[in-house]
Amino acid sequence: MTFYLGIDFGTSGARAIVIDEEARIVSQMRYPWANVTNWVNCWKDALWGLIEGISQEWRREIGAIAINGTSSTILLTDAAGQPVDAPLLYNDPRGSMMLKDLSSIAPPNHTVLSATSSLAKLLWMQQLPTFNQARYLLHQADWLAFLLHGKLGISDYHNALKLGYDVEKLQYPEWLEKMQIPVFLPQVLAPGTPISEITPEIAAKFGFRRDCLVCAGTTDSIAAFLASGAKLPGEAVTSLGSTLVLKLLSRTRVEDARYGIYSHRLGDLWLTGGASNTGGAVLKHFFTDDELVRLSQELDVSKASELDYYPLLKEGDRFPINDPHLPPRLEPRPDDPKEFLHGLLSSMARIEARGYELLQQLGADKLSYVYTAGGGAANSTWTAIRAKYLKVPVVASNNTEAAYGSALLAMR
Ligand code: ADP
Repeated sequence: MTFYLGIDFGTSGARAIVIDEEARIVSQMRYPWANVTNWVNCWKDALWGLIEGISQEWRREIGAIAINGTSSTILLTDAAGQPVDAPLLYNDPRGSMMLKDLSSIAPPNHTVLSATSSLAKLLWMQQLPTFNQARYLLHQADWLAFLLHGKLGISDYHNALKLGYDVEKLQYPEWLEKMQIPVFLPQVLAPGTPISEITPEIAAKFGFRRDCLVCAGTTDSIAAFLASGAKLPGEAVTSLGSTLVLKLLSRTRVEDARYGIYSHRLGDLWLTGGASNTGGAVLKHFFTDDELVRLSQELDVSKASELDYYPLLKEGDRFPINDPHLPPRLEPRPDDPKEFLHGLLSSMARIEARGYELLQQLGADKLSYVYTAGGGAANSTWTAIRAKYLKVPVVASNNTEAAYGSALLAMR
């Protein structure tokens, strides 16, 4: 039996999942972040801790490993792979001060023109006193994989998208090459591509097979998409967390900066999507989790709610309506909390349907099936309401853990 190991480095902690050849989970563990002062050490401890948490017996049978990290978390290393300074995390906005310069170099509306893009961060890093020791720019997932396979300067095209890599032509664009940034930008592989066998030191230290492969990784949100079970054009994953995030698999690449829509490459397909500010955070503002469960069960979904809301906590949305001043619409509010909830769930389902319509209008494949992740996925009443508006089958994702998606990537 060969097993596959997926490791997720997410926003709240790290997690490892081992699957068998039938993609069944045989082992899983977590490593939560707590009061971190040194991220590099923390990631290393997490990586070793998670591996040690897998029983020796399973570890010996692992054939391949893939790691996902948070998108746009980057670090600089010296020629030996040693970090020269603290990493810049996914949500670090310091790159924003480079956007003016960058906008005169990158094409209009390019994904790198965002305060948290990897390229904006890299430009900001150039003024660090430690920059002259830097040789390689790596993403979090690249560096963690390097600790296992020992090869520097290798990434995947999911992590490299926000560095400016051209995922259609599979090369760095000319405008980026011309910038002559004095560090090695990573060589970019398709996610899941075997990079190398694990180093003999790591194999001996942890009792891995010598021929255990380390594969190119991905980002946390794409790993979670892979975990869902969606595979074919027209299949989608809606994430009903604090916000509403849609992802639709398509044969056509869809980009529209006005709505914050862009596409990741997924083999021969494109994963296109958008994010709305509506979502569970609004529900949480008005109801406790217990109330959500109880009131939802009491709703009669055979009758449509006439209440037409645009549930937001503060003004402004980007997708599917691009209007930074869009006011929250939560009136009229009925006295019966059940009716109010019915109005909220129905209105969010209409926004979700409108989001998928917009993606299709812009050229994405016809929606055929919706998997669901996030806190709202467990609400079967909401699922029934959504199915009416979406007019396609709506189910819970097979699995929502990014680590599971990375394990599938290692298996493929
Ligand atoms: P995130 O990771 O984005 O914070 P989660 O995926 O953990 O979000 O989901 C949390 C959200 O799910 C909360 O905003 C909460 O209102 C919503 N939620 C929790 N339980 C339910 C439920 N039974 N029905 C609908 N929404 C729910």
